[in-house]
Amino acid sequence: MSKFKGIRIVKEPNYSATTSEFDESELMDGDVTVRVSHSTVNYKDGLAITGKAPVVRRFPMIPGIDFAGVVETSSHAGFKPGDAVVLTGWGLGETHLGGYAEKARVKGDWLVPLPAGLTAAQAMAIGTAGFTAMLAVLALEKQGMTPARGKVLVTGAAGGVGSVAVSLLAKAGWHVIASTGRAAEADFLKHLGAAEIIDRAELSGPGKPLGKERWAAAVDSVGSHTLANVLASTSYEGAVAACGLAQGMDLPTSVAPFILRGVALLGIDSVMKPKAARLIAWERLARDLDPAKLAEISTTISYDQILETAPKILEGKLRGRTIVEIG
Ligand code: NDP
Repeated sequence: MSKFKGIRIVKEPNYSATTSEFDESELMDGDVTVRVSHSTVNYKDGLAITGKAPVVRRFPMIPGIDFAGVVETSSHAGFKPGDAVVLTGWGLGETHLGGYAEKARVKGDWLVPLPAGLTAAQAMAIGTAGFTAMLAVLALEKQGMTPARGKVLVTGAAGGVGSVAVSLLAKAGWHVIASTGRAAEADFLKHLGAAEIIDRAELSGPGKPLGKERWAAAVDSVGSHTLANVLASTSYEGAVAACGLAQGMDLPTSVAPFILRGVALLGIDSVMKPKAARLIAWERLARDLDPAKLAEISTTISYDQILETAPKILEGKLRGRTIVEIG
């Protein structure tokens, strides 16, 4: 198949994303060609498809920051035709043609084998957002955070990063406080393992440099005032993993939580994460995520629904994770 379907983003005459056909000659350099079976809808994909933030830096672009699929051809020593693989990040859908197409050609060094015990659809139910949640949990653990320290807060809890973080932390024995703007999702979050639900409005306005100590640790996918308030209410020598900017990229805080309470702010990046750390995270995800919970947080859409669905993630209207069936 030298022709294949894919979403095409162009910049001229106007920024637009349309369903389109590609020729293999349009694929970029890489030593592994993959037949893509599944991708997902992440926040960044919403930004790419709408053009609301300049995440796409090469045109034309195929969006889709992650995929799962099967190797078709490979000149990379680590992969052979028929191998099931997963890719998240590395500029996919931003600087390198991404996952919303039947084919992708990438560097083999970017791929990880499909983790044992997971189907391609389950790996994409996790996808970039779930992988990021795992990185955040691993960072908290590396910082010495355990359930014995106190409670953990998850912001943006009904979103992709948040829902996987709630599941992982509950499974690890934490008392999870889920912060959400969607009261209707309280049962969903409790089912994932949240012990308490708080209204995100409690955290989203301008706050004080320090507040009452409410949690020992937090996973924040929201940024801005929310992250500032999360830091202000983190207990002595607690830690906060910052992974997102759903409220904003700013961080209107002070040094008070750091110098008066010894709070640690841990930055989480999933895009350029080295391979060794990726393999550890995926192994843990395959081990710790209950397949039934994973199914509950996932919605599956077809390739034809990408363009209408992706913008909704920017409005906070998608619950949990959205898998895209490509092949
Ligand atoms: P989702 O849209 O699925 O989740 C974000 C959640 O944040 C929403 O569901 C909503 O949760 C909450 N939210 C949205 N808008 C606001 C607002 N204005 N104020 C407060 N809360 C808000 O996106 P993802 O989970 O895929 O991604 C979350 C963030 O993490 C994004 O900013 C994304 O760019 C970032 N990210 C970063 C990565 C990294 O490598 N660091 C990798 C992947 C994602 P609720 O409805 O429960 O209130």
